Amino acid sequence: MASEPTPAELAGKTLKALVAQKLSPTPENYVRLYAEISGKEISRPAAPPSGITADPAGVRPPLAWAALIRELFRQIDLPHKGTTLSRKKEGVNIVLARFGNDSDLLYEKMQGLMRSWGSGVVASGDVAGSTDGTSVSSVPVPPVASGMDMAIDPVVMAHLRDLLAQTLESNKSLQPELGEEINTLVVQIKAAINGDQVTDVAKKLRHFWVKMELRGGDKVKIQEGLLSLLRLLVENVGELVADDKWLHGQISILRDIMEQPLDKRSIADAEKNLRDALVKQSSLKQSLANAKDTLKSLMASFIDRMGEMTESTGDYQAKIEGYNLKIGLADNLTELGHILEDLMQDTRVIQASTVRSHEELVVARRQAVEAQEKIRLLEQELEQVSELVREDQLTRTLNRRGMEDVLQREITRSNRTQSPLCIGLLDIDNFKLFNDLLGHKAGDLALMHVSETIKAALRPTDAVARYGGEEFLLVLPATHIHEGVDILQRLQRLLVQKLFVYDGEEIIITFSAGVAMRGPNETAEEAIGRADQAMYQAKAAGKNRVVKAEA
Ligand code: GH3
Ligand code: MG
Ligand code: MG
Repeated sequence: MASEPTPAELAGKTLKALVAQKLSPTPENYVRLYAEISGKEISRPAAPPSGITADPAGVRPPLAWAALIRELFRQIDLPHKGTTLSRKKEGVNIVLARFGNDSDLLYEKMQGLMRSWGSGVVASGDVAGSTDGTSVSSVPVPPVASGMDMAIDPVVMAHLRDLLAQTLESNKSLQPELGEEINTLVVQIKAAINGDQVTDVAKKLRHFWVKMELRGGDKVKIQEGLLSLLRLLVENVGELVADDKWLHGQISILRDIMEQPLDKRSIADAEKNLRDALVKQSSLKQSLANAKDTLKSLMASFIDRMGEMTESTGDYQAKIEGYNLKIGLADNLTELGHILEDLMQDTRVIQASTVRSHEELVVARRQAVEAQEKIRLLEQELEQVSELVREDQLTRTLNRRGMEDVLQREITRSNRTQSPLCIGLLDIDNFKLFNDLLGHKAGDLALMHVSETIKAALRPTDAVARYGGEEFLLVLPATHIHEGVDILQRLQRLLVQKLFVYDGEEIIITFSAGVAMRGPNETAEEAIGRADQAMYQAKAAGKNRVVKAEA
């Protein structure tokens, strides 16, 4: 069987009902509700609360419930700085809920609660005789910060302050430049025991979190930088993995060997070229393969790290925002304590991951920059090797392979722009005799002299190729037939002006040439064939002349 509620419990329930029903806190309302709840009338003039809390043993004075309740009604309506009516009611509710079963404690806590509102001074003794109806405190009460301070154990408070300080300090390793500010805040947090100090620290903390968030912007920049670097690297790797580039170069060397007139010398030369190219290519290929592997693993780690970083940073920022909001709305220290606990938990997790990501990213970025530079150099070298494959080693003009590329390119351009394209073919006169008289070495030097003179005299858009032993092919874009003939004749005059000197002797070198302008839809071979015929006509007509090819 349930025991009868004690008078203290009835008083507690009555107060609760008053708050719940939003009744104005008058003694009349109290008396009416008390009667409803207890099923008993409160006799007057005897003040029921003082009677009902009397100690049966009579050892200590009865608790002055009537005075306390009267004071509560008075205080609840008084405007108090730093609190509101609803917060006061909430406080009353919490005290009732927690201490409603123990009348001594309830009395004490209610007194404490009222003291916390700032101006209430309630006596612990009987104040029934007080003339002005106000209560008198025998013990001075220190001012307290907020409505809930009395409900929080000072040990818990100290613990909360420590947690907050710890949370802040954990940020020092992440952002060392904020270390001093963090130290100052930590000192203030540890010293904050009254309301003004707590409010002040809370404000500074909010500013601090905002600053932390702003600094988070650097991470976004790092990520953007990495992304663009990554894009660059992917493009480079795409170029590098095109392995047929290697094959391509090697095949063209072999083709050159097959296409040139097969004499022992040219085969030996071509073999040497091929060997050189192969040695260079294979060492380059190995270095490139290594660079590629490094890049691949770097990219994998970039993506991992970025994913991790974006996720935790985004999450963290969202959480920080949430915390800012909660801190702004929190109106009691208990709530604040919970927020701080959560915040610290999150910060620890995120901090660990961010610091790790940051350090790894710095290292990875440096490695990527180094790898990129290495690749640039290797590519440059590769380009040079490719050029070698396209060039004739003696005269440094294009070889057959290079010439075919240029012809293809210029025919396409000529078709597109509807501009004329001329092909000139020249053959040195009596070169066999030259070799026979001055020796092969002089012949080689003479070929170099001719090619240098021609190259220096032509436009950058023109191209010169060694077509055969002492034959050169000229590709002249945007050139009409009469201009083509002029160009070849100008070259003849130049060779007479710039004589070849060998062994102190000045030697005139002449050539015979044929010039053809490419006809509509004509292939390169067809145009070259007509130029060749014209060249033979020039030979037949007595050499050292230029003949225009028949259309
Ligand atoms: P023509 O005026 O009719 O062209 O007479 P030619 O003697 O110039 O013609 P031919 O084709 O009979 O001889 C070409 C010579 O060019 C034969 C070859 O020894 C020489 N020659 C070809 N390539 C080279 C080379 O790379 N170096 C040297 N020194 N001579 C070469
Ligand atoms: Mg010849
Ligand atoms: Mg010749």
